[in-house]
Amino acid sequence: MITIALSKGRIFEETLPLLAAAGITPNEDPESSRKLIIGTNRDDVRLIIVRASDVPTYVQYGAADLGVAGKDVLLEHGGAGLYQPLDLEIAKCRLMVAVQNGFDYEGAVKQGARLRVATKYTQCAREHFAAKGVHVDLIKLYGSMELAPLVGLADAIVDLVSTGGTLKANNLVAVEHIREISSRLVVNQAALKLKHDRIQPIIDTFTATVQARQQR
Ligand code: ATP
Ligand code: MG
Repeated sequence: MITIALSKGRIFEETLPLLAAAGITPNEDPESSRKLIIGTNRDDVRLIIVRASDVPTYVQYGAADLGVAGKDVLLEHGGAGLYQPLDLEIAKCRLMVAVQNGFDYEGAVKQGARLRVATKYTQCAREHFAAKGVHVDLIKLYGSMELAPLVGLADAIVDLVSTGGTLKANNLVAVEHIREISSRLVVNQAALKLKHDRIQPIIDTFTATVQARQQR
């Protein structure tokens, strides 16, 4: 059996065409089904539906052979024991620093002020501000980071931005670009060796599909 770990939402939706190219069609839609293990048209392939941030863990321990995870999640996880052969170029967004409209971020940084930064991405944020030589107090949140500056919890947030609509709706502005984010295929290294004849063709098909898209 080959087990593929995916999260609901954009990753599932954007992975579907890649699975289809590899001849894999889920038997159910995780958005409407409550099942966490979803069969496919192939007897030897199943999908498991987990939190986005849990995908690397399932693959690392071999509970899933393959998975799809955002680079943000992989950077926070550390990627130990994971083979990351392919950038799938899906679920693209940017990791950014944002502040409330009117907050003088540049000025605060120039003055060497200590900044309070709320984020789910503490690892990436710590590295970013350390590289800039900015002193920060990091406040770990698990979601809705946009709220933090509005209620005085933080001066700034580090969050993923795609259209910028959520920032705008909450009177925030992006002030710094940390890095581009997209989702990667992750593979359990032992599984790749043991089930090479079945896993490698999936990797090859995903690779060819991503390359074909780039040439369009
Ligand atoms: P959870 O809902 O379990 O707390 P999450 O909110 O990170 O986790 P999703 O919103 O499904 O889960 O995001 C999954 C992945 O998609 C993220 O890890 C990131 O790589 C990417 N992503 C997150 N937000 C955006 C966005 N606004 N636009 C594009 N891609 C995004
Ligand atoms: Mg989300």
